[in-house]
Amino acid sequence: MATAAGPDPASAASSQPVRVVLRVRPFLPSEASSAAAPCVGLLGSHNSGEVTVQIKDKYTSRNECYKLDSFFGQETRVCQIFDQEVSAVIPGIFDGTNATVFAYGATGSGKTYTMQGTEHLPGLIPLAVSTVLALCTGTWCSVEISYYEVYMERCYDLLEPKAREIMALDDKDGNMQLKGLAWVPVRSMEEFHEIYSIGVQRRKVAHTGLNDVSSRSHAVLSIRVSTDVVKGKLNLIDLAGNEDNRRTCNEGIRLQESAKINQSLFALSNVISALNMKETRIPYRESKLTRILQDSLGGNSRAVMIACLNPMEYQEAVHTVSLAARSRHIVNYMSSASKQGTPKDKVDMEAKLRAWLESKGKAKSIQRMDGFLSPNASKTPLSMSHMKKSASVRVPGRVKAIDQDGNKIKKVLFDSAARIPAENLPIVGTQDQVNTTKKVVPPSLTPFKDDKAGSSLRKALSPISSNMAPQNKQPVDDGNCSFMLEAKTPMGSYHILEKVSGATPLDKFNALGSSLKESLIQQYLDFLNVASKEELQQLKGIGERRAEYILELREDSPRPFKSLSDLGSIGLSSKQIQDILRKTATGIFK
Ligand code: ADP
Ligand code: MG
Repeated sequence: MATAAGPDPASAASSQPVRVVLRVRPFLPSEASSAAAPCVGLLGSHNSGEVTVQIKDKYTSRNECYKLDSFFGQETRVCQIFDQEVSAVIPGIFDGTNATVFAYGATGSGKTYTMQGTEHLPGLIPLAVSTVLALCTGTWCSVEISYYEVYMERCYDLLEPKAREIMALDDKDGNMQLKGLAWVPVRSMEEFHEIYSIGVQRRKVAHTGLNDVSSRSHAVLSIRVSTDVVKGKLNLIDLAGNEDNRRTCNEGIRLQESAKINQSLFALSNVISALNMKETRIPYRESKLTRILQDSLGGNSRAVMIACLNPMEYQEAVHTVSLAARSRHIVNYMSSASKQGTPKDKVDMEAKLRAWLESKGKAKSIQRMDGFLSPNASKTPLSMSHMKKSASVRVPGRVKAIDQDGNKIKKVLFDSAARIPAENLPIVGTQDQVNTTKKVVPPSLTPFKDDKAGSSLRKALSPISSNMAPQNKQPVDDGNCSFMLEAKTPMGSYHILEKVSGATPLDKFNALGSSLKESLIQQYLDFLNVASKEELQQLKGIGERRAEYILELREDSPRPFKSLSDLGSIGLSSKQIQDILRKTATGIFK
């Protein structure tokens, strides 16, 4: 089985500001008896170095695919992750380029194991410290470390505990400083282990004396390299476990803690997604952790998010990966093999809505939503049940809104606390009605005037129909897999792996179908980004006002349509978009 897939380290760190990779831990001895196959596996790799992974529920055959930067399977050792994802960023800190590595995932998914490691198998933290120390040998550079945790939006020093929290303050240059945080010099690995292990013990028993506090705070180990001035630093972060309150049944303080954890993880995901989308405004100020990390996320900095998964937990994996994948702004999709007939966007929408509600501390709404979304509850898609009737999208500098008839309604200020497209937000004041039937006003559709409209879009999309050709088999990077089919589309080739453990012919076929869907969507977005007003008007659902509005959006930002959710800005509902794409796909075979 392929255990690791992705680009070589040299290209790994440079492809985008924040890489998002996946690690699946092995089955534990206690899990071995029930273990069959892990719920997540590698499905394919792309020429760009990205990978497609599939998460599959063995009981229901529900499955989802996601595109990420790299995949590390159960047999991967930490040192492989270090070599492929972390070692490339270390030389940069000697040149003043900061870097950050996160381990993200639910409790029990292997975050601490990955970052800290064990006595015999060092994790990314000791591996990074020893590499930095080795690079300092024979130079004037010195190394210091700090170790702190962020718990309930407060920061505590773990190396030199203080009675009070550490204040995060802006200095005169606008950089964030942690006032009073200890930086302890480290000259050898022995010294490091001595200092670090005391901090690790403190983390375990801090605050409440409860012994699982460690999984409810973000722990940051910073390694700083200096000569006479500070050069750069590397932050290695064991994030608090993300929690799905549906499953953990949290109450009281636990629910509050959980809301804070999810709020800050959501804020982190917003920052990463804004960085990867190269947006002009990055919402660092939405959480303590992102404020603190502002100098090490974005700009020239490098970052890697390692999403850790428990191979036994399908639901948990979906929760983790949908939030991690959201950070990359990729198109994710449900397989058509899903026997449950789950709405296409449900997982992502659910994760977004849940995170938004949690970030607003709306515990009651979440509980109601959970009831609403439970398998026994009504199957009304969330996306239909409590949508705003208008949508807004961020464009650099300002936000505009348009109603479903294509009328501009007003210019609104961007709400920095909630970066979800407004179409995904609950209607103000109706959260109490989640379980009641809500009438959704259908969007007004501009009817097809003639078949020219369809053929125009078909023409724009035509490469898809003709480029499906069997390819010669060739080996991919790890020598474990070979190509089967290549769909040549203008957005790049997609390869289906033939010998991936657990990937059935149906899986491969579905992945290929999903890839085509992705291409179709991309082509449609490209069309909206470049077509003339007249061409736009020939599309179903786009009248004169919408076409003009699209041109106006393009004046503000050259290619405003980057993902499906951006279509909310022109007031197209997901049903309208699906109709357009379906119509086009039908036309291919005419
Ligand atoms: P988290 O920090 O995400 O809550 P842990 O790192 O504590 O999770 O891992 C949960 C359990 O799984 C621990 O018993 C740990 O030793 C084990 N584990 C995690 N990752 C691995 C791995 N790659 N190999 C072996 N055991 C692992
Ligand atoms: Mg842990």
